[in-house]
Amino acid sequence: MDKVFTTIDGMRDYVLELQKNMTRIPATSPDVGGKGEFKKAQYLEAELKKLKFDEIIHADAKDERAEGGVRPNIIAKYYGRDKTKTLWLLAHMDVVPEGDRTLWKTDPFEVTLDADGDTIYGRGVEDNQQAVCAAMVTAKAVMESGARPPVNLGIMLLSDEETGNKYGIAHLVKQRPDLFGKGDSFIVQDSGDPQGSQIEIAEKNILWFRITTTGKQSHASMPAQGNNAFYAASHLAVRLRDGLYAKFNKEDKLFEPSNSTFEPTKKEPNVPNVNTVPGTDVFCLDCRFLPSYDPKDVIAEAERIMKTVETDFKVKVTYEFLNKMISKATPADDPLIKRFAEAVEKIHGVKAQLIGIGGGTFAAEVRNLGLPAAVSSRIYENPHVPNEKSSLKFTLSDAKAISYILLNSK
Ligand SMILES: [Zn+2]
Repeated sequence: MDKVFTTIDGMRDYVLELQKNMTRIPATSPDVGGKGEFKKAQYLEAELKKLKFDEIIHADAKDERAEGGVRPNIIAKYYGRDKTKTLWLLAHMDVVPEGDRTLWKTDPFEVTLDADGDTIYGRGVEDNQQAVCAAMVTAKAVMESGARPPVNLGIMLLSDEETGNKYGIAHLVKQRPDLFGKGDSFIVQDSGDPQGSQIEIAEKNILWFRITTTGKQSHASMPAQGNNAFYAASHLAVRLRDGLYAKFNKEDKLFEPSNSTFEPTKKEPNVPNVNTVPGTDVFCLDCRFLPSYDPKDVIAEAERIMKTVETDFKVKVTYEFLNKMISKATPADDPLIKRFAEAVEKIHGVKAQLIGIGGGTFAAEVRNLGLPAAVSSRIYENPHVPNEKSSLKFTLSDAKAISYILLNSK
């Protein structure tokens, strides 16, 4: 362990190099007008091949819209003394777009190192490249120590986390169930806090509604000849938000926030001109509710509210789900969670705190297979913002925590 830790201490420049090269390849999803993860995956696979992995395989998902026609998923394994069990490190290669460029103080796709010599800025440096780096550092350090770990070390570098997981972890779970062994454990470093104290063991259930309201288009000077879909949908958005918050109002202190949330979010464009009453309106509703609520009840209540708007405004309301993630929790006394809590105390020097979150991570898919997953990392916690930053020191701390868990695995 000491040897591994000393090696990790010397890997700051390795992290910086990986971060620089990854950030130059903006891997955004075709869903948001990007090219996908193909180039970034090619780079990372070349880096993985420089290390001594026993297996490197692909489980790519076809996507004609993306560069290379695929959304790549790379799986690398370094055998342990017991080859029947694997400690998996999951990270995603895709990033969200940079957003408004004028809000960035530096080029979002060129890593800038702060004067403190530790903080780096760039799109993706935290979400989720820090996790990619921590995984690579762990693998490299463990390999260089010369001793095989007690169990296999596995790394999954996945696509499509930011826009629904269809071509990433969900594809893997469906197409390669053999990769998820009965005795395997999973670490997801895609959420956390600057102290590294939080270990997420549960996630709220997620439903994303895309709701279409259909009325009748007309000239804006003659609204009576039409039926304003935007007006009806505005009422619908308010009724859904207020109604769902009121009905599903329990609190659970494991979660932050402790209540369920139901927020109207994305609004799709309707008519391009001001003087037309829109006949169709589309908006999305992001629902995240406590695992103690049955999704069927949430859906039934949402449908009931939609009917009230149909009746009151003589419109038609239909919906589809853009995302539906119902997940179990990992028990607090699972050996993975216990070992993680020890690692947090030994490496980060703080007391571990078990929590639940509202954001969906890979862990949900893994937990639904009945396998344990811990979500934890020492991060600034600033994903998706302009001037996204990450700490090289935090990255090395994360690698030590994972190494501790790996080397103490049974
Ligand atoms: Zn992420």
